[in-house]
Amino acid sequence: MKTKSSKSFVDDFMNYVKSKDPMQFEFHQAVKEVVETLAGYLLANPRYLHARILERMVEPERMIQFRVPWADDRGNIHINRGYRIEMNSAIGPYKGGLRFHPTVNQSILKFLAFEQVLKNSLTSLPMGGGKGGSDFDPKGKTDNEVMRFCQSFMSELFRHIGQYTDVPAGDIGVGGREIGFLFGQYKRLRNEFTGILTGKGIEWGGSLIRPEATGYGAVYFAEEMLKTRNDSIKGKVVAISGSGNVAQFAAEKVIELGGRVVTLSDSSGSIYDPGGIDTEKLAFVKELKNIHRGRIKEYAEKYNVQYLGKQRPWSIKCDAALPCATENEINGEEARMLTKNGCFVVAEGANMPSNYDAEHHFLDSKILYGPGKAANAGGVAVSGLEMTQNSMRLAWSREEVDSKLHSIMVNIHKMCVQFGQDTNGYTNYVKGANIAGFVKVANSMMAQGLV
Ligand code: GLU
Repeated sequence: MKTKSSKSFVDDFMNYVKSKDPMQFEFHQAVKEVVETLAGYLLANPRYLHARILERMVEPERMIQFRVPWADDRGNIHINRGYRIEMNSAIGPYKGGLRFHPTVNQSILKFLAFEQVLKNSLTSLPMGGGKGGSDFDPKGKTDNEVMRFCQSFMSELFRHIGQYTDVPAGDIGVGGREIGFLFGQYKRLRNEFTGILTGKGIEWGGSLIRPEATGYGAVYFAEEMLKTRNDSIKGKVVAISGSGNVAQFAAEKVIELGGRVVTLSDSSGSIYDPGGIDTEKLAFVKELKNIHRGRIKEYAEKYNVQYLGKQRPWSIKCDAALPCATENEINGEEARMLTKNGCFVVAEGANMPSNYDAEHHFLDSKILYGPGKAANAGGVAVSGLEMTQNSMRLAWSREEVDSKLHSIMVNIHKMCVQFGQDTNGYTNYVKGANIAGFVKVANSMMAQGLV
């Protein structure tokens, strides 16, 4: 084993993963990124190889798939698939979001659950990793339809989760509204009020700053990366993709820190506002997306700015890019376009938004590149803080939660530098995040024996 080169180690391991689930491309991509950066470390620390930790980590501890039947407002019956991947519980109860989106399948959820294990470890809070969701599409559905769907979904999920077992939260397509319906149904079925979900409403057990956490955290992380070059967000032109929860609060924090946000997007296209999205325009976006559930195109119409139909915002000249939409939303060509136009900071608010080529381009270009599992860990970190508050039956102030979030992001950045800095001084944050996240989980798995 010791004499094996990193390259052949990666190839052998990927052949093993692919042979088990040949069609799970997103999962392969997430695993490959991790194994590539871990290979050298593992070969130098063969105890992890002998214990076959990596082989164990790519195998979910448990995978649940279930039927979710529901009726729309006209009485038509629909059948969706529900899932929960309970990936790893070495350092705490399974923790991770639920995604409702037509693209949801086992590959997507396994990639997300695998990333979640390392991300949660990086937060330094006691949370294992999991992910779940459904191929249900909330877009265009009425509140009542979403409620009936959530009730049906929870009617099966409730038997698998619990405050000490598995604590889901939101992700794409699952926000405050859905968490409310899911929580209500859980409580009804169990006759018990416990912190079994995070992202709850503030009046019923939620934490202040949880809605802001992922977006704010990504900007705090970008700010830490910039500090290493004696720079800051202030005065920077920032391209943000997405217009949902993560993008909205990333934009809010960039504006607060004096940066200029020039783009937002949704699955239909992007808006380009060269003058910058200010607080008032951002309030319009929040209302448009969270209440009217409209399209970002309406921003372009209202403020008379350019709308790039069917396009992502990466052709726009910027200093910093914050991809906050979804996986694989930056390809190699777009990554090259970004750096060619001067972009030198990328902090990922979404999970795996850069594809394999894009990620390698960013690393080869030696820009400040913060991968999702480090840069977007603020969301799950504040979920962890929500769990703590629920256990203590207390609620902390905004300032208290925000300052804890900030220190967690600073600490994640520090760990990435510790494990990811090359001899020439460049920090490979991908390597840093993967090794730092891995070590804690791996050591805990070794301590707990062959389970
Ligand atoms: N879905 C978010 C993530 O990708 C948050 C998960 C959570 O709060 O449990 O990390």
